[in-house]
Amino acid sequence: MDIKRISHNATAYIYDDLDDYITSVFFIECETKIFIIDTFCGTKRMEPILERINESSIEKQVVIINTHSHWDHFWGNCSFKKNDIISHELCRELINQSWDEQIREHGKYILGKAEKHLPNITFKERIIFHNEGIEVFHSPGHTKDSISVFDQEEKILYVGDNLEKPIIHVEDSDIGSYVKTLQNYLNYKPSKIVASHTLYLTEADIEDTIDYLNNLLAKKEMNFQSQHMEKIHRQNLKICNKF
Ligand SMILES: [Zn+2]
Repeated sequence: MDIKRISHNATAYIYDDLDDYITSVFFIECETKIFIIDTFCGTKRMEPILERINESSIEKQVVIINTHSHWDHFWGNCSFKKNDIISHELCRELINQSWDEQIREHGKYILGKAEKHLPNITFKERIIFHNEGIEVFHSPGHTKDSISVFDQEEKILYVGDNLEKPIIHVEDSDIGSYVKTLQNYLNYKPSKIVASHTLYLTEADIEDTIDYLNNLLAKKEMNFQSQHMEKIHRQNLKICNKF
């Protein structure tokens, strides 16, 4: 695990334990609150983060945010039983429904324990922590329940799995909403864009992803630089054609 500071108040805990990609958990420290975006896979992986919280000289309220209902984003939730955990209302429902199945399919990646611990605060559109300037908003795309976080002071946009390089994973067939979400990201005029599996992205990456989605929708022939990209693209096509 690697720890990288991404701004004066935010740090990425970067885990390289999955097969094809890195996964980051983000730690945003404000004056009286700490926001943690996603909890990765199991209690052991959350230990360095808990240590950091416990080392803090002032007791701060810890708020966990689950960006969506995929296993690599919430299997550390049970390390934060005393804290509030925020997600989209659909995300809570999907974690609950798919818990056993996701454990069956990907449980080998858990380090420590992963007990079922659901978000306790849910929303439909957005939640704003006005004193901290942290906006959490619904941003359907990669999945229907995906949410993003905007740090209004630092102008950092945390996009979960909605952006990823070299290629995004489309897990929901509503491409129109995905494109709208990405266009809306540009309105925020972020100074930094960070994603769970790709640390830094640019506005050009957002534009490229919009182009990719439009081509996907139009079933246009596309060329890719690697077999990995080809493979993910074929999976994306399948999701698009499902409905
Ligand atoms: Zn995902």
